[in-house]
Amino acid sequence: MGKERRRKILELLRERERTPKELADYFNVSLMTVYRDIKELEKEGLVERKHGTIRLKEEEGEGSRCVICSKEIDGRFNVIIFTKDGRKLQACCPHCGLMAFRKMGEKIETMMMKDFISCNPVSALSCWYVVGSEISPCCTPPAFVFSTKELAQKFSKGFGGKVLDFEGAIEEIHRLMSLGTRVKLTL
Ligand SMILES: [Zn+2]
Ligand SMILES: [Zn+2]
Repeated sequence: MGKERRRKILELLRERERTPKELADYFNVSLMTVYRDIKELEKEGLVERKHGTIRLKEEEGEGSRCVICSKEIDGRFNVIIFTKDGRKLQACCPHCGLMAFRKMGEKIETMMMKDFISCNPVSALSCWYVVGSEISPCCTPPAFVFSTKELAQKFSKGFGGKVLDFEGAIEEIHRLMSLGTRVKLTL
């Protein structure tokens, strides 16, 4: 019961930070119960308190390096991966995010990418990808993320690469990697 609620608390905190009162109201339990849960989660290093609100803890070490290639995370392209056991991992770019999903998909609950144009977070499952373009800002073959198919198509007209959905992008990266493709240009 408590365990299930703590899992749900992590889920709520993923959306935004919450006050203990909000959490207590949400679960219809006493503040004391919520504080107990928070204490547990703090002990596990999953959440932290700040100015009266509870939020997910930014992980250092594991979290600041790419899970796939160990590159240091650059905020422009990073992918945030939430695992089913409540951990938050990062990948350096959509290429590694897609590789992470291929490798550990069943352990992943959600994955957030960044739209290449607006930098707004988008869910990895619902965005569009351009894979194998001529420019490669991070890992090769590159993958770029767009919130709409039209943006992806415009980009691929200029810089090459295939426009694909989530599943297609994973397959295409894998295919290109097994061919050992080299990029022509590097930004
Ligand atoms: Zn990486
Ligand atoms: Zn990368």
